[in-house]
Amino acid sequence: MARIEDYAPIVGKGEVESIKELAEHVKGAKVLHVNATKFGGGVAEILSRVVPLATSVGLKAEWETIQGEKEFFFVTKKIHNALQGDGSVFLDEEMMRLYLETNRRNASIIRDDAEVIVIHDPQPLPLIENKKGGKWVWRCHIDTSSPNIEVWSRLSGYVRKYDAAVFSLERYIPKDLQGMRVLIDYPTIDPLAVKNMQLTPTEIQKVLERYGVDPERPIVGQVARFDPWKNPTGAIDVFRMVRNELDNLQLLLIGSFALDDAEGEEWYNKTVKYAGGDKDIHILTNLDGVMDKEVNAFQRSFNAALQLSTREGFGLTVAEALWKGVPVVGTKAGGITLQVIDGVTGYLVDCIEEAAERVKILIKKPWLARELGYAGRQHVKLNFLITKGLKNYLRMHIDLVGK
Ligand code: UDP
Repeated sequence: MARIEDYAPIVGKGEVESIKELAEHVKGAKVLHVNATKFGGGVAEILSRVVPLATSVGLKAEWETIQGEKEFFFVTKKIHNALQGDGSVFLDEEMMRLYLETNRRNASIIRDDAEVIVIHDPQPLPLIENKKGGKWVWRCHIDTSSPNIEVWSRLSGYVRKYDAAVFSLERYIPKDLQGMRVLIDYPTIDPLAVKNMQLTPTEIQKVLERYGVDPERPIVGQVARFDPWKNPTGAIDVFRMVRNELDNLQLLLIGSFALDDAEGEEWYNKTVKYAGGDKDIHILTNLDGVMDKEVNAFQRSFNAALQLSTREGFGLTVAEALWKGVPVVGTKAGGITLQVIDGVTGYLVDCIEEAAERVKILIKKPWLARELGYAGRQHVKLNFLITKGLKNYLRMHIDLVGK
């Protein structure tokens, strides 16, 4: 596991020293993170890296996940969709009962001696009912800028019981949280994780060949869960438009099945159907053995990365691509706009046609793609690396419990 000193060659010794100094103030403090899954999606990705790194600077950080039946995750995915703006979601009494009851059954994961308890996303939100001591933080990773009001109003009472709430963007803060301590924090990626570490050209080539992707032809790809908000079929539309002109193009759609995502299978099947057996569209998942190293290799092979989400809390996949020097063509959704600076680290687009035009340009002008990719890496280095995330966490911890 990485130690904080290992990051000095990337972020500089001064930054590492300032993190160690901050950490001194909270040495030995017990912190508990709770989310809904150990695998799949951005939150699991962040916690799998941040918790060990926090431990390495002296915190006693732990990570627990709540357990639930399939029906519970069906309800929580509905809640997730509603908070992202799906107005058609209605939570009936039975759904609410299941949601609250499952959380009640998970009460034992809360350790009474934790000084800070960070609850991630809506699935374990009602655990706050078990608050005895410590400071409780609700870390919301999704875009709550225009939530389904009816569903939000059933949850906001729980949020208000927390000592603080943290969002990824200022405009995600629901208006009715006035008076509460609310913070903004950007998610971050770990440059030393297998997902992001440097790979040799041979390693990349081997992964491509293993999955029948031609390393000598242009590749465009989107890494994302199979989910309506991620718009995998839009990526296929872009591919088809570009291929009308560049007929040797290949598309990679890489998506894992998150254990807490009840819609994954349905959207995977929809995507496969939409691809219609096209041999140049490669749809691959963790069930095909695509894990961190493979995702890393695929991202590095892209001439351009796509992120066509209609809603995106942050989009770690964007930072991951940019860190690898790959420009991103993304929609103007949520966190994508923080990371893709139009014409600098990639292109922000309004529609499929525009995305296709931008992808064409990036394939035809490799020098331009290189320039944008280089700027993207610098942008991530300055703003979205795990060292910054840890530093912000330490500041918040000190702010909540004192030194
Ligand atoms: N991811 C992965 N394999 C896949 C698809 C996604 O490991 O096949 C990872 C991806 O690299 C990123 C995370 O899952 O680290 C997704 O985080 P993001 O913030 O982009 O989206 P979320 O799934 O949380 O909405």
